[in-house]
Amino acid sequence: MSKIKSEVLAANSEYAKSFGDKSELALPPARGFAILTCMDARLDPAKYAGLAEGDAHVIRNAGGRASDDAIRSLVISHKLLGTNEWFVIHHTDCGMELFNSEIMGDLLEESLVTATVDENGWRNVKNEGGSKDGKYINWLTFKDNAKSVVEDVERIRANSMVPRHIPIYGYIYDCKTGKLVEVHDATTAGSVDI
Ligand code: ZN
Repeated sequence: MSKIKSEVLAANSEYAKSFGDKSELALPPARGFAILTCMDARLDPAKYAGLAEGDAHVIRNAGGRASDDAIRSLVISHKLLGTNEWFVIHHTDCGMELFNSEIMGDLLEESLVTATVDENGWRNVKNEGGSKDGKYINWLTFKDNAKSVVEDVERIRANSMVPRHIPIYGYIYDCKTGKLVEVHDATTAGSVDI
């Protein structure tokens, strides 16, 4: 068994020992809200937003972008599970600012091995065969972090399956301080009809 796999399973058996009354948790999130955020390993939404098991939905992808699949999850979150407030939370120093779809497509076309980055940009360290399929994907990268939060909130707000009464708040998590900084233009775009 790999080292990581045995570590994860050991941690899980410890966790399960004190599982207690979490077995009684209901399926719908008790606090009625959802967070869309980045998969970045430095972000722990349970900690930065004060969540316990059962509290809220957390939808994560690269960048915390409002992809079709993120919107699918948000619509389920409200329509079937009753959430009524949503947060879009990107963060400083996001990897999605460090490449674009053309770069990703070119890297993948040449090799599937993990690439490296330096002052000259991204490059493959091995060329063991790649895939052209990356050329057909919009990798949803961005250059302007605050603008990307606004765009994502606007995209969710504009979706016909998203009720107008759900406020959508836009934030950037600061990886240097752990603080959430509001993107006012995003929250304005995500405000509710009065
Ligand atoms: Zn990120």
